[in-house]
Amino acid sequence: MESEQRVLTGWGRTAPTVATVVRATADELSSDEGLSTIVGDRGAIARGLGRSYGDPAQNGGGAVIELMPGSEPIRLDAAAGIAHVDAGVSLDVLLREIVPQGWFVPVTPGTRFVTVGGAVASDIHGKGHHADGSFGAHVVRMGMLFADGTRRSITAGTDPDLWWATIGGMGLTGVITDVSFRVIPVETRHFVVETRRVPHFDELVEAMETSDRNYRYSVAWIDLVATGKHLGRSVLSMGNHATVDDLREMKPGLAERPLDFDPRSFPDVPPGFPNVLPRPAVRAFNELWYRKTPKQHHGIESITQFFHPLDMVGQWTRLYGSHGFLQYQFVVPFDAVDTMRTIVARIADEGHASFLAVLKRFGAESGGLLSFPKPGWTLTLDLPAGVGGLDSLLTELDTLVLGVGGRHYLAKDSFATPEVVRAGYPRLEEWKAIRYGIDPHGVWASDQARRLQLI
Ligand SMILES: Cc1cc2nc3c(=O)[nH]c(=O)nc-3n(C[C@H](O)[C@H](O)[C@H](O)COP(=O)(O)OP(=O)(O)OC[C@H]3O[C@@H](n4cnc5c(N)ncnc54)[C@H](O)[C@@H]3O)c2cc1C
Repeated sequence: MESEQRVLTGWGRTAPTVATVVRATADELSSDEGLSTIVGDRGAIARGLGRSYGDPAQNGGGAVIELMPGSEPIRLDAAAGIAHVDAGVSLDVLLREIVPQGWFVPVTPGTRFVTVGGAVASDIHGKGHHADGSFGAHVVRMGMLFADGTRRSITAGTDPDLWWATIGGMGLTGVITDVSFRVIPVETRHFVVETRRVPHFDELVEAMETSDRNYRYSVAWIDLVATGKHLGRSVLSMGNHATVDDLREMKPGLAERPLDFDPRSFPDVPPGFPNVLPRPAVRAFNELWYRKTPKQHHGIESITQFFHPLDMVGQWTRLYGSHGFLQYQFVVPFDAVDTMRTIVARIADEGHASFLAVLKRFGAESGGLLSFPKPGWTLTLDLPAGVGGLDSLLTELDTLVLGVGGRHYLAKDSFATPEVVRAGYPRLEEWKAIRYGIDPHGVWASDQARRLQLI
C-alpha cells in the first residue's frame, strides 16, 4: 500500500480538504496489515476518479482509499453476457476492452472517466434511463470489503438489505471491490442519431414523451438563458445502437471496422478564465449553439460524440474560473411538469449564467434506498460558484422541488442541507439503520456524509 497527504476536491473544485490517500488492492486492504492500519478517528472512504461534483469522495483529516485493480481486472463472460470487473476500473478502460468484442456497458454517464465502484455507489444514470434504468439495475453480484476488514461477495438474494443500501449508498456501507453486471451486445460502436431543435419548453415535453417510445437513448440540451417565447428552447438528441446494415446504408466507410474503439482527447482548456462569465457571453454561446444545429438531422455518431462530448476537452471545468462551480440536479415526478417549467423560467429570469443544461425523462427506480433516479423529469445545470444571489435562488428551487415530492442527486451535490436530503429520501432512516448494523463504529465516513448528517 502507498499513502500520501493530498488536497482533494470533487469535479466542481469547491470545498478542498486534506486526507491521507491510500492506494491499495482489495487483497492488501483485507490483509492483517490492511484496513485497520489505515483507519483512525476520522474513518475512511473509497474514491474512484473524483468525478462526483462535491465532497462525497473526500474525508478531511481521515483516510481516502483509491482501489488499485488486481491481476485480472476485467473478465468477460460472453456466453452469459456478464462482465466481472474490479471496482477501480474506469468505464474508459472497460469500453476499450469490451467494445471491440461486441459489448457495451448497460449505463454510461456523460463521461467515461468514472470507475465501476463509483458507478454503483452513485447508482448512476445515463441517456437510456427511461428504457434501461440505472447502473444498479444491471448488477448481479458485488465483492465488498467491510468495516471489520473482512471480504465477501453479496447478491440481492443473499443480502437484500445491504445490497439496496450499497447501490446508491455513496460508499458508506463499505468498499466495493469488484462488480459483476450485465453488458449489452452491439454490432457496432456507432449510434443512429436524430437531432432536432425544439423552440419551447412545452413542445419539448411533448416531443420527449413521444420519442422516448422509439429511442433507447435520449436527452435534451436546454438553453437556460432564453426567456419568453424562447423559454426552454432545446436541442433534442435521440439514438439507438447502429447495426452494420445501418452503417452500410448511411456511412459505408464505417462498416468495415465497426467495433474499433480508440477515442482520443483534445487539448486542455487553458487556465485563467474569469470567475463570473458575463451573461451576454453565455447568451451568445447558447444562441450560436442553437442556431448551428440543423432543424432536424438524422446521422451516425460515435460513442464519444453521442455520450461523452465533454471528454474531448481536457480540463473544461476551467471555463468556470478559479472559484469552481457547482452542479445542481434534481428530479420531479411526471405530474409536476408545471413545476419544472416554473423552475426553468425562474433560472432564466434570475440571470445566473448557465451554459447548456440537460433535461431528461427518468424511467423506473432501481430499488437502492438512496438511489436518485425515480420516474419523472430531471434537470441538470452547472453554475459558477461564489456568485451573489445563487444561494437564495437554489434555496427557492429546493422548496419547489421538495414541494412536489422531488429530490436532489447526491453525486452532484455540494449545496444541499440535511433537511433537504431527509425530505427527498423518505427511506433515509431505514438506510441508516442498515448502515449502523454493518458499521457500528462508523469506519466509513466522508465530508459529504458529515455535512448532510448521513452518518
Ligand atoms: C462530465 C461529467 C458528467 C457526468 N454525467 C453523469 C450522468 O450523466 N449521470 C450520472 O449519474 N452521473 C454523472 N456524473 C457523475 C458521476 O457519474 C458520478 O459522480 C460517479 O459516481 C463518479 O464516479 P467516480 O469513480 O469518479 O467516483 P468518485 O467521484 O470518486 O466517488 C463517488 C462516490 O462513489 C463512492 N465510491 C467510489 N468508488 C467506490 C468503491 N470502490 N466502493 C465504494 N464506494 C465507492 C465514493 O465514496 C463516493 O461516495 C457526471 C460527472 C461528470 C464529471
